[in-house]
Amino acid sequence: MGKASKDKRDIYYRKAKEEGWRARSAFKLLQIDEEFNIFQGVKRVVDLCAAPGSWSQVLSRKLYVQAKLSPESWNGYHPLIVAIDLQPMAPIDGVIQVQGDITNARTAEVVIKHFDGCKADLVVCDGAPDVTGVHDIDEFVQSQLILAALTIVTHVLRVGGKFIAKIFRGKDTSLLYCQLKLFFPDVTFAKPKSSRNSSIDCSSGRLEGPNKVYIPFLACGDLSDYDSDRSYPLPSNAEGGSYQSLDPVQPPIAPPYKTALELKKAASHGIVENDTLSPGT
Ligand code: SAM
Repeated sequence: MGKASKDKRDIYYRKAKEEGWRARSAFKLLQIDEEFNIFQGVKRVVDLCAAPGSWSQVLSRKLYVQAKLSPESWNGYHPLIVAIDLQPMAPIDGVIQVQGDITNARTAEVVIKHFDGCKADLVVCDGAPDVTGVHDIDEFVQSQLILAALTIVTHVLRVGGKFIAKIFRGKDTSLLYCQLKLFFPDVTFAKPKSSRNSSIDCSSGRLEGPNKVYIPFLACGDLSDYDSDRSYPLPSNAEGGSYQSLDPVQPPIAPPYKTALELKKAASHGIVENDTLSPGT
């Protein structure tokens, strides 16, 4: 898909570039905030699985930039924002970065150390594994990320704090709901307007009979907002001019697909290293 075509088919991808967000995911967190007011009273946050950093950008703008603009309302206090990912991230004002695997206990220890005995008011986790396309596997691996996030949450989140995590809806959704309910009195599954529709039916939980649970489900974001599953005409098409697609705000600095792209490029130039491309030789 070309850049302009993606701009047309994904309004939030286009808007993210126009508004300076590193990824379209920023809108999900903003729309969740519109519904749940998640930043109220928040001073310390952990952003798990943060790269390329659009949620960290939202946290920086909502907390760090606000604290700088009105220090009196923060009593000279500096917000603490710690972001973790397997991948390195370009710097963001006011965000401490930790590169590591959230399923690894040592990463959790590093995060906890940054809090120096204090607790976080909010933990967010937008973790997603490299998708295989086999939904059951993807959903399972993603639920393991949430459980790893929950382990960190149990150490760093203050009593009464908030935990926001992305989930892949599927047949184990109700099990996950029950696991979360053990730790939080209120658990809501929400679909921000900017999140695309899943073909999996959320209500088809595996827990049946007396164990069946009904999950509170909420659509959030202004309902008159852009629909992430619709295509929108590009601005210049409406005005008869030629459309200029913007470059991404901050491409990932070391994406996992980088080596594959380099090998593909080398192969197309005839620079094929046999020992790299074909392990059998
Ligand atoms: N919230 C991010 C943003 O707004 O830019 C997007 C997050 S992206 C959808 C999912 C991220 O999860 C990837 O950057 C990936 O590296 C990270 N991830 C996946 N498994 C992880 C793990 N075990 N530990 C840390 N990060 C992980």
